[in-house]
Amino acid sequence: MIPVTKEKILEKNQEFEIEIEDYGNDGEGIGHYEGMAVFVKDAAKGDRALVRITKVKKSYAYAHLVKVLEPSEDRSEPLCPHAKVCGGCSLMHISYDRQLAWKQEKVAQALKRIGGIEDPVGIMEPIVACDGGGLHYRNKAQFPVGCDKDGNIIIGFYAGHSHRIVDTDSCLLQPERFDEIIGACRAFFVEHRIKPYDEEKGSGLVRHIVIREGRSTGQIMVTFVLNGDGFGGHEQALVHEMRKISGIRSIIINTNKEKTNRILGFTNRVLWGSDVIEDTIGDIRFAIGPMSFYQVNPSQTKRMYEKALEYAGLSGGETVWDLYCGIGTISLFLAKQAGKVFGVEIIEEAIEDARRNAKLNGITNAEFYVGRSEDILPEKHKKEGVIADVIVVDPPRKGCDASLLETILSIASKRVVYVSCDPATLARDVAILTKGGYVLQKACVFDNFSQSTHVETVAQLVNIAAKPGIMPDL
Ligand code: SAH
Repeated sequence: MIPVTKEKILEKNQEFEIEIEDYGNDGEGIGHYEGMAVFVKDAAKGDRALVRITKVKKSYAYAHLVKVLEPSEDRSEPLCPHAKVCGGCSLMHISYDRQLAWKQEKVAQALKRIGGIEDPVGIMEPIVACDGGGLHYRNKAQFPVGCDKDGNIIIGFYAGHSHRIVDTDSCLLQPERFDEIIGACRAFFVEHRIKPYDEEKGSGLVRHIVIREGRSTGQIMVTFVLNGDGFGGHEQALVHEMRKISGIRSIIINTNKEKTNRILGFTNRVLWGSDVIEDTIGDIRFAIGPMSFYQVNPSQTKRMYEKALEYAGLSGGETVWDLYCGIGTISLFLAKQAGKVFGVEIIEEAIEDARRNAKLNGITNAEFYVGRSEDILPEKHKKEGVIADVIVVDPPRKGCDASLLETILSIASKRVVYVSCDPATLARDVAILTKGGYVLQKACVFDNFSQSTHVETVAQLVNIAAKPGIMPDL
């Protein structure tokens, strides 16, 4: 039999006009060519555009945006000249209002399609927008340092999906003081002939500059990540230059001599000042070291945790579990209104931070465990009879482990507050919890990562039928 070969609809480098009808999961525009879906980066819904095919798959293709022929109403001119090449702001060509609408819609669609929630819009609160139109919100930046082909020092950001450094003087997502610090470092390296690290050869000294700010205190920590132990005889001069910048509280040398993509190495030395900076979220103080995990959008984080607190519905005596607790930010936020809080986190250093932060705030009703949530919760519950009135989960993108959801159902806590950074896995886990006797009562989307496609959601699930000790048929 002669195999039937389907005529190839599209070929690489083929150019044509297309109408962009929708956004994909990563914010790319989607159009169709003779029934085949075409994904176009940097295109906006409503654009009429000339595109060139870059890759053809079985049932879809990728295309490069050659020219916008008729611009969509969603468009706005990116404020940053590097928006197209830098990997950081993939939505900057879309107006901030439309970014917000897209994010709200993305969560609603996931809850409907994957989560089986009939009317997600009915239970969703309006998206919480970032201040300042979604600019200058970050409190942390990691700048790679390198050389261009003429040997000049470049400091900036990696181009999307690569390690090519885009040289920049300023980034619109960061505090303006960070630009000043980078400018001072650049001048210092040139004057003192300090060599950037060469990733391919493994030679040179400076790999990254990591800057963190305590937004509420104004304190700044600058960490120099070096392929070495220090700047030798230049250190005092560097301290002198850095201290000219207001707010500098801590200068750290971090050593990373490995050939790795990991930014920070494991040894830190205080070159000047304190080993931590402080920040507050609400009335809770946090000490942040060079290795500490800390949310990058502090004002949105506060709003998000306030929502988690509201959804937890605490009256003062409850036992609360904060699973995937990181440095205990949510735990400490909840502790003042709960009877007891247990935090669980897989990274030991984060738990050390959590315990230190509890002490710093005089909080004595929070206890922290190192381990996997899916191991610790059943262990403490079954063996020690620890109860859970409210369970908060804030897992990484892959969502909760299936066995953890089973434990939650058999504990049958009154409420589950789900803090999620991935709508698809949130919806998947909501489907399991709702099948097991919970109802999704409310959800609120937070724009903590404006100009990028990331979305945070806080959801409240209330127990209406789950019974302690009984595993429902899922
Ligand atoms: N709730 C924290 C951190 C959330 S990020 C905050 O708001 O700041 C998710 C955290 O889950 C990370 O700190 C990660 O180390 C941790 N983690 C990942 N898998 C885990 C698991 N199976 N059990 C416990 N913690 C886990």
